[in-house]
Amino acid sequence: MIDYTVIPVTQIKGVSALKQQELHAFGISTVADLLLYFPYRYDDFRVRQLSEVKDGDKITVEGRIVSEPVMQRFGKKSRLSCRVMIESWLVTATWFNRPYLREQLTQGRDIVLTGKWDQRRLQLTVATSEFPGQGTQRRDTFQPVYSVGGKITQTWMRKTMAQAFVQFGETIPEIMPASFMQRYKLMPRKQAIQAMHQPDNVEVGKQARRRMVYEELLLFQLKLHMFRAITRERADGVVHNASNATVREFVRSLPFELTEAQKKAVTDILSDMRSPLCMNRLLQGDVGSGKTVVAAVSLYAAVRSGYQGALMVPTEILAEQHMRSLTKLFEPHGIVVGLLTGSLTARKRRDVLSGLQMGMVHIVVGTHALIQDDVHFRNLGLVVTDEQHRFGVNQRSVLRHKGYNPDVLLMTATPIPRTLAITAFGDMDVSSIKERPAGRKPIKTYWVKHEMLDRVLGFIRREVTAGRQAYIITPLIEESDKLDVQNAIDVHVQMQQAFPDLKVGLLHGRMNAAEKDEAMKLFSANETHVLVSTTVIEVGVDVPNSTLMIVMDSERFGLSQLHQLRGRVGRGAHQSYCVLIADPKSEVGQERMRIMTETEDGFELSERDLELRGPGDFFGTKQSGMPDFKLADMASDFAVLEQARDDAAELIRSEDFWTSQDYQLLRDAVQQEQLFQGEQLD
Ligand code: ADP
Ligand code: MG
Repeated sequence: MIDYTVIPVTQIKGVSALKQQELHAFGISTVADLLLYFPYRYDDFRVRQLSEVKDGDKITVEGRIVSEPVMQRFGKKSRLSCRVMIESWLVTATWFNRPYLREQLTQGRDIVLTGKWDQRRLQLTVATSEFPGQGTQRRDTFQPVYSVGGKITQTWMRKTMAQAFVQFGETIPEIMPASFMQRYKLMPRKQAIQAMHQPDNVEVGKQARRRMVYEELLLFQLKLHMFRAITRERADGVVHNASNATVREFVRSLPFELTEAQKKAVTDILSDMRSPLCMNRLLQGDVGSGKTVVAAVSLYAAVRSGYQGALMVPTEILAEQHMRSLTKLFEPHGIVVGLLTGSLTARKRRDVLSGLQMGMVHIVVGTHALIQDDVHFRNLGLVVTDEQHRFGVNQRSVLRHKGYNPDVLLMTATPIPRTLAITAFGDMDVSSIKERPAGRKPIKTYWVKHEMLDRVLGFIRREVTAGRQAYIITPLIEESDKLDVQNAIDVHVQMQQAFPDLKVGLLHGRMNAAEKDEAMKLFSANETHVLVSTTVIEVGVDVPNSTLMIVMDSERFGLSQLHQLRGRVGRGAHQSYCVLIADPKSEVGQERMRIMTETEDGFELSERDLELRGPGDFFGTKQSGMPDFKLADMASDFAVLEQARDDAAELIRSEDFWTSQDYQLLRDAVQQEQLFQGEQLD
C-alpha cells in the first residue's frame, strides 16, 4: 500500500524540484499535504438568467453574438466589444486587452461569457469566455480558487491537483471508523477530498465540507484528550515544599486582607505546587479582582521552596508596574526581583541575566525578553503568565522549557465561557475569582452621543477637582497604527486646550519604552491628571486613584476590550465612572453599548458577547493561541466542535480505540496531525 503522506510532491508529474521549493512555502511537501490543500473559495460558472442577477454580480451567461466586434486601441491597451443576445436582452460584452479574440467573435456564434454585470448599461465586462463544444468547458462548474503566490499560479495549482488525483487518488485511505461513517452519514474520504477541490454541485460541496470539518475537529479533540491523558500522569514535576506557616506569614504582611476567592485560588495553587504533578492551572478573574497578589503569594512559595519564579507579561508598561509592586512586597523579605524587558541597557540586562543564572535574582518580571535564548535560570520552579491570551502558545512553552517541568500558572482577565474553554482547550484546571475586593463600589457606566462632549469635559473637571484622575482612550483605527497615534496626539492637544490649568499626559504605541514608562509614572504619582492614551493601557494597568474612564468612538471596540478598558477604574475606594462616547449605526453596535451599561460582570459579559458574536470572533486573532483550523470555523462550526469533543472523549475512554485494528488509521492520523502545535493552553 502506497502511503501518500510520505511521498514527496515531486512524484507528481509536472512538479519540478523548483516547484517543490515553492510549494514548501505553503506548507506542502508530500502528496497528502497537496491533496489536503483546499481552495478557500470557488468561482461559480453556473449559467444564470439575467432576470435573477443583480447589478455588480459576477455572472456566467450564454447567448449569441449578433454584431461585428468593434475594437479600440489606446497605445498598448485595447478594448474589444460586441453585441450579444442573451435571452431577450441585447447586451454589450466588452473584453479588455485581448485583441486576439477579435477573429473568433463572428456573428451568429454561440458564446458563454463570465464577467461583471452592469445592470444599468446592460453591459458585461468579460473575465473569461468560451465557445460551446471547444476545449474543456468551465460552464456549469465550480472552479477552485487556491491561495497561491510566487511561481505557483492558480492554473498550475488546478492542473497539478488534478494530476495528483490521477496518480494518487486511489491511495487516499478512509480513516474514520465505519460506525462514525454511519452515525453521521459521512461522505467517504476520497470522494470528499476530491469534491473539496472540484464539487459537482453545491450540495456535494456542502457534504464534502461537512465531512472534512468533522474529521478535522475530531482529530483536534482526540489530540487534545490524548495529550491531557498523558500529562495527567506525568509525575516528575517540581515539588515546592514551602511550609504553610511561611506562606501565612507573607500573606499577613500584605497591605490588605485577601478576599475569600483569592484565598481559595491560593489554596488550589499551593496544593498543585506541592504535588509532583506539573501544575497547569488557569486563574481567571475579572479585571480588578486582584490576580496579581495571588501570583505574588505563589511566587513567594516558590522562592521559599528554593526555586526561582518568572512572571511574564505582554507589555513593558505592565512589566514596570509589576516590578514596582512586587519589589514593594518582596523587598522586606529579602527576596530579589529583577526586570527584563527589551529596552534595558546592555549592562543592566547583563546583570539580571547573570543574577538569574547564579540564583541571586529570585524572581524575574519581564516581557517577551524573557524567552530569548540567552536567558538561563539556575532552577526555575514556577512560571506565571499574566494576560495569557496575549501570548502565543509557543512563547509560553519556550519559557516553560527554561526550567525542568516547572509549575505553570496562567492568568487571564478575559473570562472564557466555560463551555468554550473546555471545548477549545480541553478540561484544564481552572480557578476563578468572581468576587472583587471589599469596599469597591460598582462602576457607573454611561453611553453618550458625541454632542455631549462638553458635558463629559465638565465631568473630567469635576473629578480632577476632587483629587481624582481620568483616562481618555482614543479610537482604534484598525488599518493603521500610525493613524491611531495621530489621533491620540490630536486629542491630547485638544484636551490641553480644554484644560489649560491641568496636566494632561499622552501615551501611545510609538513612544519608546522610556517615554512610556515616564508617562505612566507621572500618572501613577498623580502628577498628570488626565491621561490621553491609545489602547496600549488596555490590560493590567493599575492606578487606583483614577476614577473616570472615557472611551471615544467606543463603537470601534469589542465588548471584551471595552470591559478591559473600564477595568482600569474602580480599583480603589472611590466611586468610579466609565463614559462611552459612541454613535453606533448598527444594531449590534447599539446592543454592545447597552450591554456595557447593563452589566459589569465580566463573566456575564463574555457569555453575552458569545451570543452576540458567536465563538468565532470571541477569540479574535491568532494572538489568543487558538488553534488555527484549516477548514473549520469556530463560529459556524461550533456545534460540530462540541459533537467532536464528546465523540473524542468517548473514544479515548473506550478500550477499542487504543487496541482495535479498526482505529489504527485514525490513531495514526492523530499522531500526524499538526493542527496545533501547543496541544493546549500550555
Ligand atoms: P487584576 O486581577 O485586574 O490583575 P490587580 O491584581 O491589578 O487586578 O488588583 C487590582 C487592585 O486591587 C490593585 O490595586 C490591588 O492592590 C488591589 N487589591 C487586590 N486584592 C485586594 C484585596 N484583597 N483587598 C483590597 N485591595 C486589593
Ligand atoms: Mg492584572
